[in-house]
Order: sequence, then structure tokens, then C-alpha cells
Amino acid sequence: MRKNVDIQKSFDLAVVGCGIIGTLAALLAVRKGLNVVLFGPKEGSRPDGADSRAYAISPQADLLFNICGLNREIDRLSEKITGMEIFHQQHMVDLNAREVERSYLARIITHHDLLNVCQERLSSEEFEHIKVKPNKFEVSQIENEQKAKIYYGQNSFIFASLVLGADGLNSWCRYVSGLDWGLKSYHQVAIVATLETPKPHKGIARQWFTDKGIIAFLPMRDNIISLVWSVKKELADSLIASKPEEFLKELENLTSRESTTLRLVSKLSSASLAMLHTDACAAERLVLIGDAAHTVHPLAGFGLNLGIFDILDLLHNFERFERGIKSGKSFDVGQKRYLSEYERKRRNKVKFVQIGLDSINWFFSPTKSSISVYRKFGMLIFSRLNFFKKLAMKIALSRF
Ligand SMILES: Cc1cc2nc3c(=O)[nH]c(=O)nc-3n(C[C@H](O)[C@H](O)[C@H](O)COP(=O)(O)OP(=O)(O)OC[C@H]3O[C@@H](n4cnc5c(N)ncnc54)[C@H](O)[C@@H]3O)c2cc1C
Repeated sequence: MRKNVDIQKSFDLAVVGCGIIGTLAALLAVRKGLNVVLFGPKEGSRPDGADSRAYAISPQADLLFNICGLNREIDRLSEKITGMEIFHQQHMVDLNAREVERSYLARIITHHDLLNVCQERLSSEEFEHIKVKPNKFEVSQIENEQKAKIYYGQNSFIFASLVLGADGLNSWCRYVSGLDWGLKSYHQVAIVATLETPKPHKGIARQWFTDKGIIAFLPMRDNIISLVWSVKKELADSLIASKPEEFLKELENLTSRESTTLRLVSKLSSASLAMLHTDACAAERLVLIGDAAHTVHPLAGFGLNLGIFDILDLLHNFERFERGIKSGKSFDVGQKRYLSEYERKRRNKVKFVQIGLDSINWFFSPTKSSISVYRKFGMLIFSRLNFFKKLAMKIALSRF
């Protein structure tokens, strides 16, 4: 049951941002018995086109979905990928979940469906929702306790033991935290659209590394696929400005399809691509999660997964709180030593993924013609040697 806050209050956790990561984090915390306040307006139409995306979600996220009571709904709304085909020139690597004793490699779900199920589940729980953005953050001493103090509206404020900044790439929390961060632009744009194909996709995702960017087809229901085409900005501008039939013709050429086999069933949307990295994701009484803490190139569909893994690494802290309640002791979720522990856990895992994806993007960059022989060699190794293929799949299926 949602309540409105008009007087100052103290919470265990304040979450800033009502995107998927903020909503999931709030839901998990509520389920573990924390007193939670969520800040921010309910998400409407997204200027970055996120609401037309479909995500490839790792099987590792199932743990979080189960704890949050979302598994049935997510099963119903998602499509499981059982295999993947990766193409580069005449070479092809095919990956199958069975080879690594899994029933699927990832599940595809739309932004809209995932956000909706999370919001619906959260609305049946007890929490506070302040539907405006906060405007000031400070750390205050109240009697013997230290708390984060968040202001909103005209001098209204609340206290919280911990603030989770889940407010996306242009995070306000990151600015007020004082943490150092940097942004590496890829000078690329991801074009996203929903397409219909004449043949069923049979749960196979496909990806092409071409001279005109990286093209991914993610299988959705029936013959529907979600396209993510990461391409240099100049080319993206001309593709977006082209007529739909010209756009599809180019796509069909690059994916070696017969012409007029693809049909656009949505508008094209686009997002500029950049890698956000922070020196640390935890400050005093504040932790950044999801895109507020890190972004990655979408070539492996990892961005949202990293945010989900942030939440799973916070679970340990929330469980300490839960045990505290059961044994009648209070537990401060924003204690420095637990935040440092979290920070240490996340730092290397996030770096590993960022460096890995950045390197793959560099390796397949069309401008690096001098290394084309290594690309062919790399594809050959992965297509012929099962050991490397399985190893790559196991790494991709790990929890980072
Ligand atoms: C083209 C593309 C394809 C992708 N495909 C995949 C994929 O297949 N798999 C995958 O795992 N990831 C994918 N990603 C990454 C994924 O989209 C992001 O990592 C994910 O959406 C981040 O979620 P978030 O909740 O952290 O941030 P956001 O979705 O940005 O949400 C932040 C929320 O905070 C709100 N907000 C902002 N400022 C404030 C404030 N001051 N106060 C309160 N609220 C505020 C915003 O309105 C928004 O609702 C893709 C990314 C791109 C660009």
C-alpha cells in the first residue's frame, strides 16, 4: 500500500530513480523488511528511447526475480534464447545452451513489460513514494546516529541510513556524491527497432560484426525480433533519415537476407553510446547502482544485468538487516564497513566487464583493418575449438 509523505521521516533506505533498477532495488529491500522511500516521478516516455528496448537478461537474475516474487510473471512475458549465432564475414560461431548444461542462455523481455511487473509488485508492498526529484543531499548527525538527509520540494526532507542512487546515466546522486567518474564516448549510436521476419526465430539470437557496425537480432514472441544496430554516428544519422524500405534493404544486405523479408513494426529509436566509469561506487551513506554507476557497450546485452548484479551484491547487507530484525537488534544498512565491503566486491567485477566489452568493440571496429587477420583467426578458434566456445559461454553466463 503506497502512502504519501508530507512530514519529515526516517527510513532505512532511500532509493532515487523509478527505472527498472531503482524499482527492483526498492522491491528487494521492502521484501527484506527495510523501511523504504522511493524518490522520483513514475517513468513516462523516455527521451533516450529506452522504452522501446528489449533486454537480454542473464539466468543469474532469476535469483533476484524469485526473491522479489516476479518469476512467474517474467516467465510469462519473456522469450528464452536457447542458442546464438555470431557472424563475421564468412565465419560463423554458433553457441547452444545445451553445450554448457543450461536450458537457456538469456531471456528477452521488453523494457515496458519488465518495468510494469516490477512496479505492480512494488505497489502491493508497504513503502513511501515521493513523486518528485530530490534537490539536496547531505550527511547529518542526529543524536548518536549519522544519517543521509535528502531534501525535496520546498525545504521538505527525510532521513535515511542509506541512499541508493539508481537515477541513470545523468545521475544527480553521482554529482552530489563527490565521487570521481569519467565518460568514454564510442562515437556510435544504437538504432533500436522491432522487426517482423517471415520465418520463426526458434529462440536463436543472431549477431553480425560488419563494416557498418554491430547488428543484433533478439528473438521476441512469434516472428518478432528486437533490432539493436550499433553504428558510427554519421552513418546512423543517414540510416535514421532514410526511407524505411532503404533502411531495411541495407539491413537485409548486411545480414545476407533476401530482400523484402524484414518488416518494421515500430519506429526507429536511437541512443548515443558511451562507457561511464566511476572510481568508486560508494560514498558516505550513498551507493550508486545501475547506469548511475556504470554503463557498457550494448554489444553483449550486459548493461541492465550489471545493475541487477549490483542489487544482488547488496542482498547480503539487506539479509543482515533481516536477521537483525528477527533477533530484535537494529542494523544500520549504511555502515561504512559494509559499504566498503560492497565497493570492493563490485569494483573488480564491473571493471572486468567494462574492459572486456570495450576490447571486443575495439577488436571488431571496422577502422582497425590492420587486425582483420586476427579477427578471422579469433572466429576460427571459437568456431572450431569447443573448449574456447564453452569457456566464453561460461564466462558470459557468470554473475559479475
Ligand atoms: C541500445 C541499448 C540496448 C541495450 N540492451 C541491453 C540488453 O539487452 N541487456 C541489458 O542487460 N542491458 C541493455 N542495455 C542497458 C540498459 O538499457 C541499461 O543498463 C538499463 O536500462 C539501466 O537501468 P537503470 O534503471 O539503472 O537506469 P535508467 O533506465 O536510466 O533509469 C533511471 C531512472 O531514474 C530517473 N531519474 C533520473 N534522474 C532522477 C532524479 N534526479 N531523481 C529521481 N529520479 C531520477 C529516470 O527518469 C529513470 O526513470 C542496453 C542499452 C542500450 C543503449
